[in-house]
Amino acid sequence: MRIPMVDLAGQYRDLKAQIEPAMAATLNAAQYILGPNVQAFEAEAAKYLGVKHAITCANGTDALHLALLAAGIGPGDEVITTPFTFIATAEAIAYVGAKAVFVDIDPQTLNIDVAQVAQAVTPKTKALLPVHLFGQPANIQPLLDLAQKHGLKLIEDCAQSFGAHVGGRQTGSMGDVGAFSFFPSKNLGCYGDGGMVTTQSDAMAETLRMLRNHGSKVRYYHDIIGYNSRLDELQAVVLRAKLPHIDHYNQQRRRVAHRYSAGLTGLGIQTPHEDGVGLHVYHQYTMLTDRREVIQKALADQQIASAIYYPVPLHQQKVFADMAAGQSFPVTESVAARCLSLPIYPELSDAAVDEVCGVIRQALQA
Ligand SMILES: *Cc1c(COP(=O)(O)O)cnc(C)c1O
Repeated sequence: MRIPMVDLAGQYRDLKAQIEPAMAATLNAAQYILGPNVQAFEAEAAKYLGVKHAITCANGTDALHLALLAAGIGPGDEVITTPFTFIATAEAIAYVGAKAVFVDIDPQTLNIDVAQVAQAVTPKTKALLPVHLFGQPANIQPLLDLAQKHGLKLIEDCAQSFGAHVGGRQTGSMGDVGAFSFFPSKNLGCYGDGGMVTTQSDAMAETLRMLRNHGSKVRYYHDIIGYNSRLDELQAVVLRAKLPHIDHYNQQRRRVAHRYSAGLTGLGIQTPHEDGVGLHVYHQYTMLTDRREVIQKALADQQIASAIYYPVPLHQQKVFADMAAGQSFPVTESVAARCLSLPIYPELSDAAVDEVCGVIRQALQA
């Protein structure tokens, strides 16, 4: 592809002079697991996010899993979430033996429709799990109010929203616990798998630190059944090099997004909607169109990537066929049939954005 969805090599070239010596130093120091870079990154990330504790782990899926465990969610509990997200959100709920209860999405923001969440609360509901999808914060205040009213935990899926905030309150700092992914293509990504859980609670932080390391506080003394889920030192080196640039990266994503939206007006495309409450950091630029195939083909003909996030809503996935039998979420289904994501990354040039818009315009006007 001439214009890929993401250009990780380009970002690496910009940071090479910083990352390679730090990697070499780490290789020589030979403390590869839970060493000084992990500790430093956790402190730096916590400071940036405005949380008391940031506990890194092996990936974003584990971050959700550990977050649910630390929040005390277990068998028989119901967790309300969105059907329009990556599978990991609901997988994590299944891992702890709880049931994912889906609620349809808002047709503008594509985040969970908070007006419908209240109706889904039952005596079994133990937590709300909103996703800050594509980098736009979910409508968090009504969810916080609802959680407080019913004594529910609020767990934020921040896998796509590092640096997004609501009036200065970072995603991952507003609920009881936040789960992040550092998969390479995320807004803040490392060079392999990585994840992190955030919380303001000392007690949950202590549990999380044990959960990620075999249930142990003191080496070879195990208090609970834990997991092997740690971020390694080399990934922490990468994340420490990138964290100081995250606001700039997100600003550049917003530049690209706004240029796309300006360039795609008048074509009958629903461009991403910013709700004016939270800062959208555009992990993805996802538009809605009735002519998705025409656009995808025209882009592919010009060696321009595009992708469908997500083609099959979670309630229609085979794995949830029993659990979600007979359920239907009309907005989600309509969005899944019409969504198309365009290339977006901080280094994407204005000229490239203009070219993508030109190809789409030509395809639709042909
Ligand atoms: C990427 C992602 C995850 C999982 O993160 P991994 O690091 O890939 O395990 C969870 N939720 C959402 C919304 C994601 O986009």
